[in-house]
Amino acid sequence: TLNPSLLKSFHLSLFCSSDFPDLRKHNNCMAAALTPAIYAKLRDKVTPNNWTLDQSIQTGVDNPGHPFIKTVGCVAGDEESYEVFAELFDPVIKDRHNGYDPRTMKHPTDLDSSKITNAVFDENYVLSSRVRTGRSIRGLSLPPACSRAERREVERVVVTALAGLKGDLAGRYYGLGDMTEKEQQQLIDDHFLFDKPVSPLLTAAFMARDWPDSRGIWHNNEKTFLIWVNEEDHTRVISMEKGGNMKRVFERFCRGLKQVEHLIQERGWEFMWNERLGYILTCPSNLGTGLRAGVHVRLPKLSQDPRFSKILDNLRLQKRGTGGVDTAATGDTFDISNNDRLGKSEVELVQLLVDGVNHLIECEKKLEKGQDIKVPAPITQFRK
Ligand code: ADP
Ligand code: MG
Repeated sequence: TLNPSLLKSFHLSLFCSSDFPDLRKHNNCMAAALTPAIYAKLRDKVTPNNWTLDQSIQTGVDNPGHPFIKTVGCVAGDEESYEVFAELFDPVIKDRHNGYDPRTMKHPTDLDSSKITNAVFDENYVLSSRVRTGRSIRGLSLPPACSRAERREVERVVVTALAGLKGDLAGRYYGLGDMTEKEQQQLIDDHFLFDKPVSPLLTAAFMARDWPDSRGIWHNNEKTFLIWVNEEDHTRVISMEKGGNMKRVFERFCRGLKQVEHLIQERGWEFMWNERLGYILTCPSNLGTGLRAGVHVRLPKLSQDPRFSKILDNLRLQKRGTGGVDTAATGDTFDISNNDRLGKSEVELVQLLVDGVNHLIECEKKLEKGQDIKVPAPITQFRK
């Protein structure tokens, strides 16, 4: 006679293995980490918001690679995704964040901008400076998973709180649904607003549902402090300006972010955070600080040099096109930013970006004079 529970587990494992995605041509962190054994173990688990492993990995299954950067290949649907599916997320995080081990390590936070040095760049090379992070509202599902009602609640909570910003930070909210197509395109072209949800990375992660419902941008009058609502994260907080004054940009970033957090907390809400993963965001690549500090920088000579990529890798820097993550570089200007977010504080990451960009500019100047450059030694991030 057949043991029914044995039969059930046999059936389950049969379905699991026939459901395992074909990842043979994939180049992303999820595909490298997901084994049939992990899949079988996690496939039938759900988070408290009914989010599944298959939903988490869909974007990485549908997008084998990205032409410009190595992608992560999975997203969280809620704060608990990182616990319930830890056997997948932990190795992905370790891979993406240069060896950070989320089981044993603690993530530091430091928003004291006065510690940053050498952060006013040569404006013959640096055209604009920007620092951004994301913050998620605890208790509400993240953009891949949220219902319309939850998304609207995020918008309501954030926009109500932001009305409390004062002085140079005071501004107002512009909902995408209330803008003309022309106004929206102008904000995108001026680098203030997120792109339309055309990227398959976003759509395969279910983040374009109901677009443009509850999406929008809040900004101060100068457009130097901006908050995106309900794009890839509940919120993205941005400080930016033309020119090379990263010191001032980071000072405004820290000051604004602290005020935003205070205003949110005053209304009884808090950000998703824990000491192992730092601030919790949709994409594992943004855990920790969520911080991407970057410049648009002109490097006509260095970018033609075969060592350019190696130099960036060794300095833990990433390059993008100036139109954003999905755009190729046009001409000789690049978006250069820190590659890591987790295990180092905001201050450390901004300083790493600052030192790295100063190094790139020095290389560019040497090449202009016909002198040789050296590839710097790789920065090792974590001591064992
Ligand atoms: P994020 O990491 O903030 O999502 P994206 O690569 O998606 O960044 O780009 C979002 C927008 O921000 C794009 O319009 C891009 O041109 C703009 N942007 C990014 N970095 C800079 C910078 N240093 N200066 C000006 N604009 C920038
Ligand atoms: Mg983006």
